[in-house]
This record gives sequence, structure tokens and C-alpha cells, in this order.
Amino acid sequence: MQFIDIKTIHARSADTIDAAVAKVFEHGRYINGPEVYALEAALGEFLGTPDKPLHCVAVASGTMALEIALRALGIGPGDEVITTPFTWISTAETIALVGATPVFADIELETYNIDSKEVEKVITARTKAIIPVDLFGQMADYPALEAIAQKHGLKIIEDAAQSFGAEQNGRKAGSAGIVATTSFFPAKPLGGYGDGGAVFTADPELAETIRAVTNHGCKERESHYVLGTNGRCDSLQAAIIHAKFPNFRDEEITLRQQVGARYSEALKDYTTVPTIHPGNTHIYAQYTIRPKNRDSLGAALKAKDIPSAVYYRKPLHQQAVFADLPCAKKDFPNTDKASQEVISLPFHPYLTADDQDRIIETVIEHEMAT
Ligand SMILES: *Cc1c(COP(=O)(O)O)cnc(C)c1O
Repeated sequence: MQFIDIKTIHARSADTIDAAVAKVFEHGRYINGPEVYALEAALGEFLGTPDKPLHCVAVASGTMALEIALRALGIGPGDEVITTPFTWISTAETIALVGATPVFADIELETYNIDSKEVEKVITARTKAIIPVDLFGQMADYPALEAIAQKHGLKIIEDAAQSFGAEQNGRKAGSAGIVATTSFFPAKPLGGYGDGGAVFTADPELAETIRAVTNHGCKERESHYVLGTNGRCDSLQAAIIHAKFPNFRDEEITLRQQVGARYSEALKDYTTVPTIHPGNTHIYAQYTIRPKNRDSLGAALKAKDIPSAVYYRKPLHQQAVFADLPCAKKDFPNTDKASQEVISLPFHPYLTADDQDRIIETVIEHEMAT
């Protein structure tokens, strides 16, 4: 059994992927090829509507997407950006990379997402933005966060690297905030076959700046008007993601929700299953539980050849690279508890009922015996 069965997901779109990739070899435009724009149009339409698509810029990774979003908003030295310490390092790393200061706010234990009440406590005159992360595949509390952002004149950057395909009150992950980012790292809900990402916004001027920053700060060749980088998504990667997207949209989103619901129904009386906030759907980038003892559960699963993983064992305020941040010395009790207790179970849209039952049985046995 695999933690994520990427081969089965591939098999569902193998023919269209082969054809799309072959087309790139035929035209040979490996950078800025038509596949890049086709992917951007498809994703922008998915997050918006056919008559009002979001602007989408395909980029080299989810990390690059965050850096480009921050640069495009003009965030840099002297600015503070509030984010969660319970996330993948990219979220805080990119804040520091553009010269701004990451400021951590603790999470809600129920959803593992940033707690808006904690955000409000750490706002200062230097705060410019908030980067909520839709951790494990469920959107953060945007209604509350947007009210705070509006009150204090802050910008919201949604880190939707784990939530692509999820929704909140009918609004899709990747459409919250003034700008949103996602990742197509192979293990993400919509995974590519290498690194890739995207930046989304409804603001046409901001979209133009994002596109410029992604491509060395130019609108026209060799006329560089903002400080940019090479943040582009290449044509082959765009072709693959674009070819995989219809099956993701039409089949995998529903299957993921069914697999997640089946886990929760079977496990809810025995362990702490994911809490879905009212109005949210969950895309389960990870299916994460808090058992009585994750190490013994991990061992019990392993004894039956069932893989598991821990995201995240060491939260960002404890990472050496952030030791000098003033906020690193603060207490984040919910983050600490989560990082000590969480474990993620095998999850993908084609997880069979038999395999899932074996996992469920092992978890229940462990929880009853512990
Ligand atoms: C994966 C991830 C990223 C970074 O994406 P890459 O494509 O790996 O650079 C950023 N934020 C979160 C929350 C992630 O899970």
C-alpha cells in the first residue's frame, strides 16, 4: 500500500498526458509555450466563472508563487507579515526572503488553521499582510480574517498549496484574499510531475505585476520595470498539469471527499478526526488524526506494511533558521500540541475500500488498546 498512489492517478489521464507532452516536443516552445496559457485559462476559469475568470499566472513552484505574490504586493524590509507556525517552511521562508519579518500567530486546534483571534493580538504598525494557510486541505476562516484585514488595512495572501479543490461558502480555495498561491508538487491534491505552482488574483493590475515579476520584471522583452526573477512554469509541466486537471475537477475532488468522509465515519468514535468548519469542504491534502499515541500507532501501521507520515513534527518557531525572530520565543500551545500529536494516514482518491478498512481496523485496534 502506498501513502499516495501517484501511479493510479497517472493512469487515469495517461493518454491525454502523453498526447499533450508529445505536442510540446512537436512545437518545441519549452518556455512560454501555449500550454502555459491554456493551463492559466483553465485554472482561472475554475476558480472564477467562465464570464469572470480569475487571473492566473503559472509559476515554477508553490514557494516561488508565495515569493512572487509578496514581491508583487511590494512587501519587503521593515514590513511584518503574520502567518502560522504550523505549516510547511515555504510560507515563512518567503516572507524572510523578500526581507520582511515573519510574525507567528497560533492555530485553532480543531482545524489546524491560523486563529483569527491570535492574529489580532500580534498586529503592529508595521504589519502589512496576513498569509493564512489552508492546512491539510481546508480553507482558513476567511470571513473572520477578512474582517480583521479590512479593519487594519492589511492584505491577505491565501496559501492554498494544500487546498486546491476545496471550497468555503461556495467560494473556491485559491480565490480568497487579494492574491492566492498554490503548488503542483506531485503529492499535492493537483500534482504535476515535478515542481510547479500558480498565483491567482481578481485584480487585473496586480495580475500584470505578478506576470512581470515572474518573468524578470518585464512586460516587453528587455525592458525591466520591476525587480523580477525567473519564476516561470515551463511548457512541459504546464502541459502535464493541464492534461491532469479535467480528471481532478470531474472525478478526484468528489472521490477525495468520499474517501475522507468514509475514514471519519469509521474513526470518529475512536480518535480525533478532522473537524470540518461549517461552510467548508475538505480536499484532504492529508488525512490527519490525533491518536492517543502516534508513535505506537505508526509502529502498528508499519507492522502491517501501512505507511504513515507526520506533518509537522517541528513547527516553524522551533526551527533553527528562525531562532532569531522575536516571535520564535513565544508560546504557541495549540501548535505545540498539534505537532506532538498529529499523524496522517494513506490518502488518495483511488484508495480502495479494502485497503482503507485495513487502515481503519488498525487504528481502531490501537485506540482501543491504548
Ligand atoms: C507544498 C507547500 C508549499 C510549497 O510548494 P512547493 O511547490 O513545494 O514549493 C507552500 N505552502 C504550503 C502550505 C505547502 O504545503
